[in-house]
Amino acid sequence: MTTETKKPYFLDTPKDELQAFFQTHQIPSYRMKQIDEWIFKKFTYDPNLMSNLPQKFRDALLENFDWELPSIVSRLDAKDGATKLLLKSRTGHNIEAVILRYDGRTSLCISSQVGCKLACAFCQTGKLGFVRHLSAAELVAQFLSAYAITSTEDRRLSHIVFMGMGEPFDNYNATVMAARYFTAPEYYGLSKRHVTISTSGLVPQIKMLADDPVGSLAVSLHACRDELRTELMPINRKYNLTQLKEALLYYQKKTGAMITLEYILIKDKNCGQREARELIRFIHGLRAKVNLIPFNSHPGLPFEHPTEHEIKSFQSYLSQRSVPAPVRYSKGLEVSAACGQLAAKHLDDLNNAPKRQAVLP
Ligand code: SAH
Ligand code: SF4
Repeated sequence: MTTETKKPYFLDTPKDELQAFFQTHQIPSYRMKQIDEWIFKKFTYDPNLMSNLPQKFRDALLENFDWELPSIVSRLDAKDGATKLLLKSRTGHNIEAVILRYDGRTSLCISSQVGCKLACAFCQTGKLGFVRHLSAAELVAQFLSAYAITSTEDRRLSHIVFMGMGEPFDNYNATVMAARYFTAPEYYGLSKRHVTISTSGLVPQIKMLADDPVGSLAVSLHACRDELRTELMPINRKYNLTQLKEALLYYQKKTGAMITLEYILIKDKNCGQREARELIRFIHGLRAKVNLIPFNSHPGLPFEHPTEHEIKSFQSYLSQRSVPAPVRYSKGLEVSAACGQLAAKHLDDLNNAPKRQAVLP
């Protein structure tokens, strides 16, 4: 394990501190734009290669900031177009990200934390417990590493989802800072509709995002009855469904944007008629789309994949009531890269095969 260096990452340094640094070194402010272009338009994160910067300035950048971002130590490719990347941080922690290739788009699923505090009963990451937050630079590192791969395939990363390890809203500042890097025109410039932040339902942060919408909102719902949701997601004890709904209505009013609701289907647990009815009641008044995700199993998780009958009847209950709810089969099951499966503590854990495969459409 390497020891943490004292130098900050350039990408973690707030703009006002960077401006002060530029002033101290008598560097004109247009140079900032040039660095941003090197990083987000030419994908070069090394001052030595930033050829339009004077040598003196490059030296100052090298001396004052850490430029060694986490980099890929292992890569697993699944046949369905998913690639799981394992990066190593300067503190020796594993960071997992997943490239998802579809016809016409390429998505990157990034992790916001090492582990997670929220201990959802169905999630392998939750079983790890919390290790630490990732910084904005460590979030961008996942993007730059993936970009280096997809650009050789003639694919441009078109979507970024904060759906890897961790709860992005528990690491709000870094999440917002990274989302800005992905969306602002002076940086990577993706549409905000193509950057999705998924939360287990942290109500104050949903409201904060409503006030400053740096990306789109997805909420992991998974049950619409407090008792069942609390059993599956302990966070529901702190922010119950009434508070969550109120925050979503606030978000909708402020942004006018569509909300994505994710609903895992777990055998004999949350996908009967009763739960479908409760879901319909919850989404009343919301402009939301529902994604149904058949539970992905993993050694050690106490639940099972739903039956085809459960999936179909849950879905048709919703569609008969004008709620379209596509079933999203996770990619990357084969390499444990699917939703809820990211949890490598060691290199050996990386391809910890799931107990059951999803039934592919
Ligand atoms: N912490 C955030 C984002 C990371 S989890 C959140 O909970 O939303 C990303 C998505 O994977 C969430 O919708 C989560 O509920 C889902 N997920 C977790 N474990 C899963 C599993 N075993 N099978 C299917 N989806 C799972
Ligand atoms: Fe954390 Fe999300 Fe997993 Fe819950 S589902 S434990 S919030 S990563």
